[in-house]
Amino acid sequence: MRVSEVVVVGGGMGGLASAARLAAAGHRVTVLERSADCGGKLGTRTRDGFTFDTGPSLLTLPSVYRELFAATGADLDDLVDIVPVDPACRYRFADGTELAVPHERAAVPEALEAAFGGGAGEEWRGLMRDAERLWGLVGEPVLRRPLNGPRDLLRHARGIRDLAAIAPWRTLRGIGRRRLSDPRARMLLDRYATYTGSDPRRLPAVLSVVPFVEQEFGAWHVRGGLRRLGDALVARLVAMGVEVRTGAEVAAIETGPAGVRGVRLTDGERLAAPVVVANADATHVYDDLLDDARARRALRRTQPSLAGFVLLLALRGTTPDPSHHRVLFPADYDAEFDAIFGPAPRPVDDPTVYLCAPDDPQLHPPGCEAWFVLVNAPRHDPVSGVDWTTPGRAERYADRVLDVLAARGLDVRERLLWREIRTPADLERDTGAPGGSIYGSSSNGPRAALLRPANASPVPGLYLAGGSAHPGGGLPLVAMSAEIVAGLVGPAGQPARRGPGGR
Ligand SMILES: Cc1cc2nc3c(=O)[nH]c(=O)nc-3n(C[C@H](O)[C@H](O)[C@H](O)COP(=O)(O)OP(=O)(O)OC[C@H]3O[C@@H](n4cnc5c(N)ncnc54)[C@H](O)[C@@H]3O)c2cc1C
Repeated sequence: MRVSEVVVVGGGMGGLASAARLAAAGHRVTVLERSADCGGKLGTRTRDGFTFDTGPSLLTLPSVYRELFAATGADLDDLVDIVPVDPACRYRFADGTELAVPHERAAVPEALEAAFGGGAGEEWRGLMRDAERLWGLVGEPVLRRPLNGPRDLLRHARGIRDLAAIAPWRTLRGIGRRRLSDPRARMLLDRYATYTGSDPRRLPAVLSVVPFVEQEFGAWHVRGGLRRLGDALVARLVAMGVEVRTGAEVAAIETGPAGVRGVRLTDGERLAAPVVVANADATHVYDDLLDDARARRALRRTQPSLAGFVLLLALRGTTPDPSHHRVLFPADYDAEFDAIFGPAPRPVDDPTVYLCAPDDPQLHPPGCEAWFVLVNAPRHDPVSGVDWTTPGRAERYADRVLDVLAARGLDVRERLLWREIRTPADLERDTGAPGGSIYGSSSNGPRAALLRPANASPVPGLYLAGGSAHPGGGLPLVAMSAEIVAGLVGPAGQPARRGPGGR
């Protein structure tokens, strides 16, 4: 069959990026987004002269988006202003130690040595050198190609020595223990597990590529807010003739014996299409949208990623020692992962607090600051976990987070003009993320990458792009999933390579 019509279910970044790549490949594409706006988790909130990114606040690997826009014939740097964040992040440890991690990789070991001493810089340099090698093994070969099972992984690895280097049985915590003698340096390494929504005690050590990527390719901000990236992508799609429909909720992906036939919206409207790209969460796709036994059998369940409790703080006045990104660590980091991933999930009592306070005049009135505060949290699970809609719970926890901030040297309670709270339940409601998981599935456990739903579903013509599918969550990765899907579908006018593993 010849493919020309493609329907994309969901206007998150993975869906928009898929639409862009497929339109560039000559397909006629329609994006259906159930909310009033596209962007999904890349949300924004404007009020009283303050603008907040409600989702991502750190852009890594901007080259992935530069390549995406270039594939559509546009130069991303003509459309948005991507600026380096330096220092990339300022950390404060429970013993009062401060560490500012520079934007430039070469300067990072020196910063660690100055903060921790005892050879911490050299140890970090060695760890990152190995991470660079791992990035060579997994960056292009695994993240930018389909992954349908262990056989693919073996094929992508160039030999048994590569697999031994990846060592999926080793954890990030384990590698930290072996390679870093300072407990604060280990804590720093552990934190990168949360970039994939995971627990460092269960995250495969190969994910030490995360700090490598941040330090090698830098930490970036988009002037006016990261949301501008999503807005630029939507504008690009419209210019390319893609139909972007908001307020359009898909109720079912319709299939027949030969595969996908199209979609049905909640208002009963039907769109026929031989190719459907699902950007909605994979569990929603397989459990709710498909009535297809093949698909349900194939859904491999992974542990969901952690969720987040977000505060948007409109503050009068300015902080004497401002920093774009800041992390304030607790004394006991493990207690946080126990609370989130343990058998009795509960809000973290003494959480790590991450805050983003961009020095960007487009985001706040003069003499004020717009703080995005994020605390890792258990998912919204009213049946067997934490019910974030319980009256009073969110307000009480917001007070607690402000108290923790104050106890760690950043008391902004007197400067507060207003605050808004976003719980995991809010994220679930607004973006359809089950339980409010930030990154779709976690990378907990040696088989997590293999269990994550593949980009080619078992239903011919149905593909998955987005954080809950391979290669995972985060802005660069969901754009990579879109690239994989576009490769699987192929250019318009070509016979579609339909079906599982159809490459
Ligand atoms: C608080 C927070 C902080 C984060 N921080 C960072 C960060 O600093 N850096 C980073 O890189 N990443 C970060 N992320 C992760 C990043 O935002 C996500 O991985 C990425 O945006 C997800 O994109 P996606 O393609 O999976 O789509 P999503 O954003 O999940 O969007 C899916 C879309 O599908 C729509 N949809 C669902 N069901 C239907 C249906 N039936 N019909 C029609 N539409 C439907 C939804 O409304 C939604 O718009 C953060 C996320 C959050 C929430």
